Amino acid sequence: AQHFLARAHTHQHLGAYLALNEEATLAQARAADARLQAGMGGPLEGVPIAHKDIFVTQDFPSTAGSKMLAGYQSPFDATVVQRLAAAGCVTLGKLNCDEFAMGSANENSAIAPLGLDAPAPVRNPWDAARVPGGSSGGSAVAVAARLAPAATGTDTGGSIRQPASFCGITGIKPTYGRASRYGMIAFASSLDQAGPMARSAQDCALLLSALCGPDPDRDSTSLDLPAEDFSARLDDSLEGLRIGIPKEFFGAGLADDVRAAVEAALQEYEKLGATLVPISLPRTELSIPVYYIIAPAEASSNLSRYDGVKFGHRARDYTDLEDMYKKTRAEGFGAEVKRRIMIGTYVLSHGYYDAYYLQAQKIRRMIADDFQQAFQQCDLIAGPVAPSVAWKIGEKADDPVANYLADIYTLPASLAGLPGMSVPAGFGAHGMPVGLQLIGNYFQEARLLNAAHRLQ
Ligand code: GLN
Repeated sequence: AQHFLARAHTHQHLGAYLALNEEATLAQARAADARLQAGMGGPLEGVPIAHKDIFVTQDFPSTAGSKMLAGYQSPFDATVVQRLAAAGCVTLGKLNCDEFAMGSANENSAIAPLGLDAPAPVRNPWDAARVPGGSSGGSAVAVAARLAPAATGTDTGGSIRQPASFCGITGIKPTYGRASRYGMIAFASSLDQAGPMARSAQDCALLLSALCGPDPDRDSTSLDLPAEDFSARLDDSLEGLRIGIPKEFFGAGLADDVRAAVEAALQEYEKLGATLVPISLPRTELSIPVYYIIAPAEASSNLSRYDGVKFGHRARDYTDLEDMYKKTRAEGFGAEVKRRIMIGTYVLSHGYYDAYYLQAQKIRRMIADDFQQAFQQCDLIAGPVAPSVAWKIGEKADDPVANYLADIYTLPASLAGLPGMSVPAGFGAHGMPVGLQLIGNYFQEARLLNAAHRLQ
């Protein structure tokens, strides 16, 4: 823990950490040491971990990257945080992210990172002029730059997989409902899912087993499924495994360098005894408009709680209650969050609901059905995580649509609630990492981790 805390300080320019509480961290570490000395503790006993600042924590501020929650201290720990602590993990601190997890480049955080006096974009350790991906950019950077051995992330439309891909690490988003959302600051509740980000599939498997599991009293969407030992099948042979290759993931929008790295990884799978099966996910393109209707709709509803009354930011000068609401929200939310709230309220409003929101829900179902069709021909699906390697900081900062389009390969699995992961597949242009995306059918995390592990 001391080693990683020291690195968090010497690497402040990367902007990965938002907050530390060294006293709390070292107290947890000492308690873990004592348990280890007493011969107690499982495989994660004493392992340091840092949490995306979307998880609430008692010992550290919880901001979700938003001015709205600057300085907010939660009275409780998120279930995921609690479960990892119960497994012996030592919390190092809180990690930067896009405001309320909205973004693909971690350029949308409104909180000044540790040691810096103003908000700043998180930097990719492979090239500090490039973005780390988002929204779990701080998590990916912390692991890639060895500022933490592992981190938590959340994935609503790709926020674990895409930053993992951009930073050359491994991350998995489990089946929707595997991990409790209790204490995870809400973005789009029907899509939000927690997962681990680490250096290998092996590490992710250990962490996933610890953080998953039912939480019936606190998250009604948590599944009634006991956590599995996701490490048990890591070494299984891939002989005879059928890997579906969706043609829509290899279209004109895919950069040549990413295509080459992904195809090389697929050839490795063939050498390991797997067969590649051409499949089709015909509604892949529609996942962008569908997601960018449903996610903002849910966000506009979830974010209505930030009204200056119960917690968080409250405007100083106001004339009456309505004025207080307006000023509080105008001051507290950043530009991207406001854009999503406006899109969300628009698509949910009378007269537009049927044309946009309802239509999007129907297509969401069809996207999920397309996957079930595909899984009749294959055991898992592989393709790129993102159309390009990490882009330059600022390059797409003023172009929300360019950011949205880059989510095309991660959104389909999110909309279907399927497990997906990113595993390092080599390097593309400018020496930047490229991730291979693996998507499994519901509850097939062990199979994904097995395939990922065999590639590593
Ligand atoms: N990039 C997507 C968005 O901006 C996904 C974010 C996420 O998964 N949290 O909404």
